[in-house]
Amino acid sequence: AHRNSIDPEALARGIRDGNRASLARAITLVESRKAEHRAIARGLIQELLPLTGTAQRVGITGVPGVGKSTTIDTLGSNLTAKGHKVAVLAVDPSSTRTGGSILGDKTRMAQLAVDRNAFIRPSPSAGTLGGVAAKTRETMLLCEAAGFDVILVETVGIGQSEITVADMVDFFLVLMLPGAGDELQGIKKGVLEIADMIAVNKAEGDGALGARSAASNYRAALHILALRSLTWSPPVITMSGLANEGLDAMWDQVALHRDKMSATGEFQKRRADQQVSWMWDLLQQRMMEALTANARTADRLKSLEGQVRDGQTAVSVAVEEIADLIGI
Ligand code: GDP
Repeated sequence: AHRNSIDPEALARGIRDGNRASLARAITLVESRKAEHRAIARGLIQELLPLTGTAQRVGITGVPGVGKSTTIDTLGSNLTAKGHKVAVLAVDPSSTRTGGSILGDKTRMAQLAVDRNAFIRPSPSAGTLGGVAAKTRETMLLCEAAGFDVILVETVGIGQSEITVADMVDFFLVLMLPGAGDELQGIKKGVLEIADMIAVNKAEGDGALGARSAASNYRAALHILALRSLTWSPPVITMSGLANEGLDAMWDQVALHRDKMSATGEFQKRRADQQVSWMWDLLQQRMMEALTANARTADRLKSLEGQVRDGQTAVSVAVEEIADLIGI
C-alpha cells in the first residue's frame, strides 16, 4: 500500500488491541477537515460500535483555578491504580479563538501524562461548540472501543459548554471553590440544575472549615431547585484534589448513581435520549454546512443577509427564498 494511505481495517484492529498509536490516528481522522477522512472515521465508529457504551462517562466542570486538572490527575491515577483505563477528553470551543487549548493539556496532568493506562486528548480546536462536541463524542466512542472504561470529559465552567458536556456523559460533576458565593464563581444557576454532584475542592487542612460552610450553602441552593430525578438528589461533598482526600468517596457516589439510575431505567434512558439529541444536532450541523458549502448558495445567503440587515427584505421572505434555493 501507498505510504500515506489509510488502512481502516488495520486501524480497527489496532484500536481493538488497545494500541494507542492507532487510537490517536483514528481521532485525527475524526477531527480532520477532509471529508474523506471523516468518512473513514464514520466507518470505523460503525464497525467498532459493539465495543462501545460500557465505560463510565463523567463530565467535570468548574471555573479556571478551581482544580480541575489537579483533580483529574489525582482521580485518574487512583482509578488506574485500581486497574481502570482512563481517557481524559476536553471540550473547549474557546481554544479556536486563542489558537491553543488549555484544557486536556498533558503538562497540567503530570502523573496521568506518563501513565500507560491513561490517555489524554486536548479539545478539538475546530469550529463551533456543536462541532467540537460532535468530535468529542466520536472520540469518546473510539476510546471505549480501545478499552478505556472511564472517560473523563473536562470543560471550563463558563458559557454553554457545560450543558453540552452534561449531555454527553452519565454523571456531571461540578467543582466549586470554598469561601466564595456562586456569583463570585461566575456560576449560573443553570449549572446547579445539571449537576449530579457538587464537590467543594481545596478542603484539606485549613481549608476544611470554609469548604464545609460553602458545601452547606450549596446544599441549601440545591434544595430549592426542582428535582430532576426522584432517584437521585445531587450530593454536595468536600474534597481535595491536591491532597487526594475525599476522592474515593467521590467515586463511590458515581458508582452509586449508576446503580440507582440503572435500577430504575433512568441510566439507559439518559443515554438513549443523548443519542437521539446527538443525531438531531449532527443533522442540523450537516444542513448548515450544506447551505454554506455551495458557493452559489453561500453568495446568495450573504446578499440576503445584507438585505435583511438593511431592512429591504423581510426575514420570512429571505428564508423562503433560501428554502427554494436548496429545494426544501
Ligand atoms: P483548573 O484551572 O481548574 O484546572 O485548576 P488547576 O488544577 O490548574 O489548579 C489551580 C491551582 O489550584 C493550582 O495552583 C493547584 O495547585 C491548586 N489546587 C488544585 N487543587 C487543589 C486542592 O485540592 N487544594 C489546594 N490547596 N490547592 C489546589
